[in-house]
Amino acid sequence: MVKRAGSPNFRGLVEAANSIILSLDREGKITYINPFGLKFFGYAPEELMGRSPVGRIVPERNSRGKSAGFMADILDDPEHYACHANENIKKDGTRAWVSWTNKGIVDDQGDLLEVLCVGNDISQIKAMEAELDSHRRHLEDLVKERTRELEKATETLALSRDRLREAQRIGRLGDFERDIVTGALYCSHGLNRIFGWEGSDCPGYQDFIDVVHPEDREWVDGELSKIIKKKGDYDLEYRIVLGDGREKIINEIGEVQTGDKNMPRKITGIIQDITELKAFRDEIELAGKVFDNAVEGVVVTDREGTIEFVNKGFTIITGYSAEEALGQNPNMLKSDRHDPQFYEDMWAALEQDGHWAGEIWNRRKNGEAYPEWLSITAITNYQGTPVRYMSVFNDLSDIREREEQLLFQANYDALTGLPNRTLLRDRIQMAVRRTSREDMGLAVIFLDMDDFKHVNDALGHAKGDLLLQQFAGRLLGAVREQDTVARYGGDEFVILIPDTNDTDIIGMIIDRIKTSMERSFPIDGKEFFLGVTMGVTLCPRDGKDPDTLIANADMAMYRSKEKAKGGYAFFTSELNRQVARRVELETDLRHALARNEFSLFYQPKVAISSREIVGAEALIRWMHPEKGIVPPNEFIPLSEETGLINPMGEWILDQACIMAGTWSKMLNRYFTVSVNISSRQVRDVDLVSLVSGALSRHQLPAACLELEITESAVMENVDKAKTMFRSLHDMGIKISIDDFGTGFSSLSYLRLFPVSVLKIDKSFVDDIPRDPDSNTMVTTIISMADNLNLTTVAEGVENKEQMDFLEAHGCSQIQGYYFSPPLPEEKFQAFLKDRD
Ligand code: C2E
Ligand code: CA
Ligand code: CA
Repeated sequence: MVKRAGSPNFRGLVEAANSIILSLDREGKITYINPFGLKFFGYAPEELMGRSPVGRIVPERNSRGKSAGFMADILDDPEHYACHANENIKKDGTRAWVSWTNKGIVDDQGDLLEVLCVGNDISQIKAMEAELDSHRRHLEDLVKERTRELEKATETLALSRDRLREAQRIGRLGDFERDIVTGALYCSHGLNRIFGWEGSDCPGYQDFIDVVHPEDREWVDGELSKIIKKKGDYDLEYRIVLGDGREKIINEIGEVQTGDKNMPRKITGIIQDITELKAFRDEIELAGKVFDNAVEGVVVTDREGTIEFVNKGFTIITGYSAEEALGQNPNMLKSDRHDPQFYEDMWAALEQDGHWAGEIWNRRKNGEAYPEWLSITAITNYQGTPVRYMSVFNDLSDIREREEQLLFQANYDALTGLPNRTLLRDRIQMAVRRTSREDMGLAVIFLDMDDFKHVNDALGHAKGDLLLQQFAGRLLGAVREQDTVARYGGDEFVILIPDTNDTDIIGMIIDRIKTSMERSFPIDGKEFFLGVTMGVTLCPRDGKDPDTLIANADMAMYRSKEKAKGGYAFFTSELNRQVARRVELETDLRHALARNEFSLFYQPKVAISSREIVGAEALIRWMHPEKGIVPPNEFIPLSEETGLINPMGEWILDQACIMAGTWSKMLNRYFTVSVNISSRQVRDVDLVSLVSGALSRHQLPAACLELEITESAVMENVDKAKTMFRSLHDMGIKISIDDFGTGFSSLSYLRLFPVSVLKIDKSFVDDIPRDPDSNTMVTTIISMADNLNLTTVAEGVENKEQMDFLEAHGCSQIQGYYFSPPLPEEKFQAFLKDRD
């Protein structure tokens, strides 16, 4: 076959051809390839010769994935020209489209000898094809896109029609067009809905006029005629009445359009159902009136804080008129009472919650700062963005003033302006808490003015008050800044030293107080001097709570005053023991009566002239199971404080009556027992029924009972004592004034009370006959009592000298150790028998 291809006839032609020409043997191996073919594929002859084109210039699989099985096709039908185009591979890896024509050459028996292949490069055609293809596709896309756009536009149009309808419904709007020439009327859905024409045929002008409220009909018709003549635009408001009788208010805004020769052609317009809007506007108008007349101040600002509206309340409270305020910023009212942080917090709250309320100090036009309760609300638009701020505020200054006043009254003494008991307790409480935290001490000084009562009586109350004020000022001047001076009672003051219990510092403060009292107090051009006595407690040693600290300081002061006025004393462990004992006693005392621990002792009263025992004074004793005999001075005051004195007094009276009866019988004459009555009993008890009860219970003649009442008990209960004494006197009971001379000691005054006996206090008897003053006192009492026909009894007579003096000056009776101490019942009875 090479022979054939290379035959002289064809060789030059084949070698010069501008096509790829190659031959394959029956195994499909290349036996020849022309120069153009070699060049086209970029191979040297030896690289291809004797090899299969498949996998080399023919891809093993074509672009459609088919294996290059052209040899099989040829073997099937060798005479057939097989034409196909495929993408071939050049040596450099690039690809090229080639159109192939293959033809088998067979021998006489029809067996395949060789295959001749002619290929032409069709890459360019292929490229053009591809380009055309892409053009077509592009055009197709374009058409598709346009179609989509059109569809969308149609959809949008439908949607906007719906939207318009919806918008008209929501806005209670409708639009219309009326042809003036033909009378045709176009109405939108919205309009039909408003006029109640839904579903009906499109009405004409007459239908419209019929719906208008009868009272507005003529006017609307006339106006519309005028409008058509005038042309241009218009704005009407009228009422309509629907089929079901509902009334609506309509706002119609329209325009007359002209046609040829400027003739009116049609009216187009919108109508709006403003029924609710109108109601809303009315409401707003009302709200405006309410705002304007409110006592609260109202300010509306725009978003930037520029004032747009203020009401009258604003002007009344701030003093700024509306003209002065409008266009300003509310910080025109700002006081300097808040730090910038305060305002920052306020704005932060407004931004976050849309609301802020609280108390704020502002400043009035006249410069005065005042507290107000302010509530700010952000008014937002439909997007929730604040567009305005509305502030409403109340002037709190009146309320605050009253509160402050109340607070002051509750915590301060009106006269001196010093803290009162309540505040004092609070402060001590606080200081105690701090001391326990910080491991420090504190001190409380109880301070009592000496003899203030006398000064007050002499000056009168008004001047006395002045004196107290000056005194308070002196105290404040003497203490340190951190100390509290409180007025505790009338002339009692308490000083709290909050941070130390160092006695040196407290001593220094006490000294300063004393020194400050050395100067006189000028009142009414006169000079007064005031002394003070003080008692001091230290925390934690003497107490850990306000009440204990004050009570113990009071006690220390009291003990100090007992010794001498003008001194001071620290609360001592001895006092402490007394306090403890007192607390114990109080508990025991409550049970003493039931446990039968009381008994009465009796001390004889002797008539000086006859030396005869004319009676006895009953004196109570408490047989304490552990402490032994407790003297009455220790438990009588306690029983008075606790009120135990009343049941106790009943018991005493009963006992005394029994013994008075016993001894009267024994002696066969009236024997009088006198019973001490405490001031608390005078105050609390109906002595008349108590005594008459006892007398009748024990069938005792009134002459056998005498009541001893101290001067002070009488003075404390003047009115009650007067009537009570009168009744007792009428019953035949003798009343004697105990401890005479220690108190008020006005005999002429005492005459107003039906008393029978005066008991001269032991303190005078003690010093006779050596002390002239006591002598004078005792003799004066005796002679005055004589004048009033009163019996005199001298108490505490211990010796013969005293008795002689008393006898010489005409005293009636004596009582005292000189004759006998108080004796227990049996002993006294024996003594009585003995002496009789
Ligand atoms: P008082 O009524 O002045 O009683 C007289 C006090 O002087 C008694 O003290 C008595 O023991 C005491 N005394 C009498 N003679 C002498 C004397 O020569 N020298 C001295 N140094 N003292 C003498 P007592 O019994 O301790 O009573 C004290 C006070 O207790 C009484 O003073 C009275 O106020 C009150 N008291 C006593 N018993 C009762 C009672 O049964 N009821 C009431 N309410 N008070 C009572
Ligand atoms: Ca007495
Ligand atoms: Ca007495």
